[in-house]
Amino acid sequence: MTPEEFRAAAHELVDWIADRRAAVESRPVRPAVEPGDIVAALPAEPPTEPVGARQVLRDLDQIVAPGITEVQHPMHFGWFPSNASLSSVLGDFASSGLGSLGISWESSPALTEVEEVVVDWLRQLTGLDDGWHGVIQDTASTACLVAMLAARERATDHRQTTTGLGGLEHPLCVYTTAEAHSSVRKSALLAGFGADFIRLIDVDPWTRDMKADALAAAMAADRDAGRRPTIVVASAGSTGTTAFDPIGEIVAAADVHGAWVHVDAAMAGSALVLPEKRELFAGVEGADSLSWNPHKWFGTILDCSLLYLRDPDHLIRVMSTNPSYLRSTAGGEATQYRDWGIPLGRRFRALKLWYQLRIDGIESIRSRLRRDLDNAQWLAEQFRDLPDWEVIAPVRLQTVCLRHTPSGLSGEALDDHTLSWVRAINTSGSAFLSPSVLDDRWMVRVSVGVESTERHHLEQLIELMQSAVAA
Ligand SMILES: *Cc1c(COP(=O)(O)O)cnc(C)c1O
Repeated sequence: MTPEEFRAAAHELVDWIADRRAAVESRPVRPAVEPGDIVAALPAEPPTEPVGARQVLRDLDQIVAPGITEVQHPMHFGWFPSNASLSSVLGDFASSGLGSLGISWESSPALTEVEEVVVDWLRQLTGLDDGWHGVIQDTASTACLVAMLAARERATDHRQTTTGLGGLEHPLCVYTTAEAHSSVRKSALLAGFGADFIRLIDVDPWTRDMKADALAAAMAADRDAGRRPTIVVASAGSTGTTAFDPIGEIVAAADVHGAWVHVDAAMAGSALVLPEKRELFAGVEGADSLSWNPHKWFGTILDCSLLYLRDPDHLIRVMSTNPSYLRSTAGGEATQYRDWGIPLGRRFRALKLWYQLRIDGIESIRSRLRRDLDNAQWLAEQFRDLPDWEVIAPVRLQTVCLRHTPSGLSGEALDDHTLSWVRAINTSGSAFLSPSVLDDRWMVRVSVGVESTERHHLEQLIELMQSAVAA
């Protein structure tokens, strides 16, 4: 494709994207497709003859796009907001169009240095002190794995360079709660800690926040038994119910053992840009690492996860490799982000944040988040006043956890009722909600926060839910 052909095809594609975004509300939130439908609509054999870009766009429009769940739809309340603000989409285009390669500072100096600048802008906007050093990772899952590996090597004085875990007399222990995201357990397993040494600390029965005294007791018991407390992963805004583990008390308990504290604020970290919400994260300055996803509520198109570290030099020692072809002819001062994570080749992700922050401006992002916080409180109020509805967890930010419990229903019959009304709404395409398990029973999470969701969409949702439970 020549640059001129690209110019024509790209204009058409951009028009198509803008039209789709403008009309998002006219489509169902969840597509009416069954597993295998899209595979069946595509040729099984690879294409042999080229077709024009217009034909590809037509197939995108008719085969591919009808098969996506419209998470930009204002009636999408599932999982978490996965906002893809159009300003950040421009940054993604720019990143692709530049076609640069991030394997070292030298392979694209601006890729590294724009990233250094924007992660520091975000540090300032989230009220973190200047002792934090940031890097963009693909996802919070990767950020958690990176933190686990750094903690493991700190606790073992870099055993990776000799015997690895095979040479340890003292098993290494990980502490988190049952509310933590599944990626925490996955990271612990991948980092070699072993399921037997993952401790799920008790939580408060209402807030689901970790009990710091139970953490301290569990760590002491492990130490007394000859094990090594190595890392605590604190959830700052758990996925299920937005539980906030008490970071300050966790840091104090971890310090006794020299254990690493990683704060997983993947979803809720967006609220750090709101000064009035920072008390939820009190004590974060004492942690070793913190990650949050601009690619959720904040609105940067996937993928863009920020990882901040207190001691990047330690991480660099764990991650660094220095083969001859990567040795730089530049001075030793340049940041080599390949040594801050797992992949060698990195995209120019910083442009997404650079575009979004400059075009939308932080104040408009802040007011959108505040709108969502108000909307979630308002929604919870409505359900508290409606008969047979229960708000079953505190509304810390923008997620409301609900159960409809008509009298006489309990146990499995209640589960059947919950799953059937939520399924009715989801398959209708008029809205999308995520069922989730809390205290061994199904409940429904309403995750408010899509960029286009306004109060009237919540009014519409209440009507849908009321008629679904009545049916
Ligand atoms: C969404 C989420 C994750 C996982 O985020 P990815 O970027 O998809 O890996 C981890 N932790 C919490 C609390 C989350 O909400």
